[in-house]
Amino acid sequence: MFTFVAQKLGQSATELRRLPSALRLAWDAAKLWTAAWAVLLVVQGLLPVGSVYLTRPLVNRVMAAVKAGGSWESVRPAVTIAILFAAITLLTELLRSALVWIRTHQSELVQDHITAMIHRKSAEIDLAFYDSPDFYDRLHRARSEASYRPVQLLESLSGILQNCITLAAMLAVLAPFGLWVPVALLASTLPALYVVLRNTVRQHEWNVRTTPDQRLTWYYDWLLTSHETASELRLFGLGETFQSAYNALRRRLRGEKLELAQSQALGQFAAGAMALLAGGASLLWMTWRAIRGFITLGDLALFQQAFQQGLGLVRSLLENLGQLYSSSLFLGNLFDFLALKPTVLDPASPRPMPRAIESGIHFERVTFQYPGGRAPVLSDFSLTIPAGRIVSLVGPNGAGKSTFVKLLCRFYDPNAGRVELDGMDLRGFSLEELRRRITVLFQEPVRYNATAGENIGLGDRGASGMDIEAAATAAGADQIIRRLPGGYGNLLGKSYVDGAELSTGEWQRIALARAFLRRAPILILDEPTSAMDPWAEAEWIDRFRSLAEGRTAILITHRLTTAMRADEIHVIAGGRVAESGSHEELLRRGGLYAQSWARAAE
Ligand code: ATP
Repeated sequence: MFTFVAQKLGQSATELRRLPSALRLAWDAAKLWTAAWAVLLVVQGLLPVGSVYLTRPLVNRVMAAVKAGGSWESVRPAVTIAILFAAITLLTELLRSALVWIRTHQSELVQDHITAMIHRKSAEIDLAFYDSPDFYDRLHRARSEASYRPVQLLESLSGILQNCITLAAMLAVLAPFGLWVPVALLASTLPALYVVLRNTVRQHEWNVRTTPDQRLTWYYDWLLTSHETASELRLFGLGETFQSAYNALRRRLRGEKLELAQSQALGQFAAGAMALLAGGASLLWMTWRAIRGFITLGDLALFQQAFQQGLGLVRSLLENLGQLYSSSLFLGNLFDFLALKPTVLDPASPRPMPRAIESGIHFERVTFQYPGGRAPVLSDFSLTIPAGRIVSLVGPNGAGKSTFVKLLCRFYDPNAGRVELDGMDLRGFSLEELRRRITVLFQEPVRYNATAGENIGLGDRGASGMDIEAAATAAGADQIIRRLPGGYGNLLGKSYVDGAELSTGEWQRIALARAFLRRAPILILDEPTSAMDPWAEAEWIDRFRSLAEGRTAILITHRLTTAMRADEIHVIAGGRVAESGSHEELLRRGGLYAQSWARAAE
């Protein structure tokens, strides 16, 4: 036990190196409240000592008054002390309420501050992190505990400070009864210290070990309660399947947690019983001394108060220590998460970005494999897209078309080769500047629960209402929006009151309008017509040419009727460009494209 306690105390001390960062965090989030909190802590820590100190004169004066027959003259000193006693008790109550109020302010601010840091980091780091389960585990731990850990940390810190102040004073009160008294008091709590540290470590290890399972319960919960999955769940009758999977997992997690709680409760009871034994023995000893006349009744009362309070203090001090330790373990998770560094970085001195694209985009012998992927998606891939042209990328599923877009936006950097804009490596430009030059309709665009106007306006936050309507018209979304009761101000999505649900094709047009709104020189549309009916597709393509005028446009599509309208078509297969040319050229060539066309015509 001693080795364990020593070892864990050592570990706690190492973990506590994060305390300054934690305090800085609280200070940054709530300066004023943190200062007020610190002052109140000190005052509140000293008050109990005052009341314990008054116990002895109070009891002795009451005894004296009783002996003197209870005259006013003899009672007055006892009354004065009683009034002081009452004032201290009242002040303690007042400060306790004030502290609760201050802590609420402080913890709310700290909580929001930490959440903002997590949000900032999640938005900043590479897309590659989102490909790793370990990242989701870390995010889960950082996020699920962020709501209460900072508060717990502050509370345990405040508890430790306060209890230490009071305990030091209590030990000073007890020391005159014999040096063995403070030693006995501290020694009686050693088992409790062991229990607290062991439980904290076990709880933390359990938390880390079960994070993937905990995430899985969240996932099942999402499957069972979300709009996106509601239809399939009903049609395939999957509700029960996922419910039992959820229940089985929860049963296991709950069982393990309850087992931990049970051993914790038993350990606490055993440790508490030992402390009580020590307290009882000391009291018996002191009572015997009082009977023998070695100490006064006031001394006995003072001893009893101080010893009992001391035991209580040490116990809550241990609890605080345990909480502080587990909060600092959590802070380890949080700071680990916050320390994640993006690898797709801005260069030290970015090159000025060309305002208009002069020569175009060029992939020079690019090889790229996703982190953790089994094989390169693109290998030795070269392709030139001249400025101002409309090109189509076609190819089988999984050929790497969307990956091409991700590399162009620098969501990832290639493992080998270069992606160039006007002959310059993309890695030489500022990321923000580069991305501002590109607008993309992603294959699975986001359906924002916001108004129709806002859904489009998110493409360019400086755009006017007229710009938004023009973009909607160009995307064929204007009429859809005007049919809504609230027009551009109508909320989309069914999650909130008065929200309107749109069809997949209608949502796609809204997203297209968002992409159009950003007047970027590079326009990328990933499957823009996949959800369009053939009539809408034909009409849209006619309009698209004039819209793309002066821009470099890349159309990724499986619809050859869309692809054929491009100036140039590139067929991607096997991680490379398999063939290139206009629609007619490719048909004459009789390759992959011609075969697909013939099959579609059949
Ligand atoms: P589709 O026509 O189906 O949209 P695509 O040509 O756009 O396909 P990509 O999305 O670029 O294909 O994917 C190319 C390959 O890369 C696929 O085999 C896919 O499994 C793999 N892949 C895509 N994203 C990731 C990722 N984040 N991590 C690992 N592999 C990925």
